[in-house]
Amino acid sequence: MKVRVYIADTPAEAWHIRNVLEQHNIVAHLRNETLFGATGEIPVLESLPEVWVAPGDAAEAEALIKQNRRQPEPSANWRCEQCGESIEGVFAVCWRCGAPAAEP
Ligand SMILES: [Zn+2]
Repeated sequence: MKVRVYIADTPAEAWHIRNVLEQHNIVAHLRNETLFGATGEIPVLESLPEVWVAPGDAAEAEALIKQNRRQPEPSANWRCEQCGESIEGVFAVCWRCGAPAAEP
């Protein structure tokens, strides 16, 4: 008896989660990771890679997955050298004068 704790978008993500869990001594099993891409079509939900663990490990696994999911890094604001405007990190050029962000 096992519990599904995660559905990954890609096999690489499933492997990443499994590695994280195994570093915490949780045995994780992947399902569907080998089916991905076999048809060359966009995978349907049932064929997405899944991560399964023993029921006793599920709560800890879910907590670890939450901590380790890849999230976009929030970029720091930067200041335009040309006009002095403060620009949000998601922008590569100054929205005010069009100058590119200075190299760090
Ligand atoms: Zn500017």
